Amino acid sequence: MKKRWILPVVLTLIVSLVVFVGLVFLNRTPATEKHVDEENAEKTENNREENDTPDEPEKLVDEPEKLDDVIIDREFTNATSGNCTIPFGKLMLINPNYTVETSFIAQRKKELISLSSNYGIRELHSWNGDNLIDAEAAEHLAVMVKDYEAEYPGHEIGTMSCFRSVGTNCGRLCAATGASDHHTGLTCDLIDPSYGTSLDTDTLPQHIEWQWLKANSYKYGFIDRFPEAWAGGPMSEPLNVDENGSTGLFETWHYRYVGITAATEIATGKYNNGEYDSLEHYLKSRGVLLDLKAGTCK
Ligand SMILES: [Zn+2]
Repeated sequence: MKKRWILPVVLTLIVSLVVFVGLVFLNRTPATEKHVDEENAEKTENNREENDTPDEPEKLVDEPEKLDDVIIDREFTNATSGNCTIPFGKLMLINPNYTVETSFIAQRKKELISLSSNYGIRELHSWNGDNLIDAEAAEHLAVMVKDYEAEYPGHEIGTMSCFRSVGTNCGRLCAATGASDHHTGLTCDLIDPSYGTSLDTDTLPQHIEWQWLKANSYKYGFIDRFPEAWAGGPMSEPLNVDENGSTGLFETWHYRYVGITAATEIATGKYNNGEYDSLEHYLKSRGVLLDLKAGTCK
């Protein structure tokens, strides 16, 4: 009798133990899974936060964007030359260190249009080359001149010289054949004949059009190509294009088309501590020139 009683009890105890252990296991498993899920969610959240704010050191310098992204126009000219800046398009350099051959000058001339016949802008000094200019530059120049004339009724802006096949030698006011910015077809010497047509740096402050152009031309894509601050020394000294971007030239009436983006960055000194830049220094700051004195590109 005793044995019959013990067996069911033992069996009941075993079954209860198994059920108890089973229940404990079942309860623990979801808890563990839940915990793992929470951990994963936390990790994902952390990852998301890490992705939102990449763990990079703060930029201390305003690094130049790639020149190609912003301004290069590779269809600027079909003319060829050993001048390595031609691929910079409207930003190409011609100066005493970055020269072009006569074949470049001849080809470039064929690509230009007449500013007088297309836009009625007068050439006030007709020995310089038929008032020829690049079509895109002409379009922008015409709007600029129109805006100046609207602001100063009775005044006009004419050209003293746009494209030139030959350069001249007159110290820091001129550049020789092959070294003249006028060969680009993107340049004109501009003057308001109300103040006379003599190109004299001493009378500059009395000319409203010079002040207006200096302050406003960048909005139309033009820059003061040879500002005094970048002339690189007194006028009595020889031309000196230095490694920092001085041009060696001083020609306040000389405006060069580079496109609105570059003109704005040059005029507002984006890469020159807020001061009016030179095209040479600007291109150097954008990291595309190797040696300004040797006239080489990267
Ligand atoms: Zn000029």
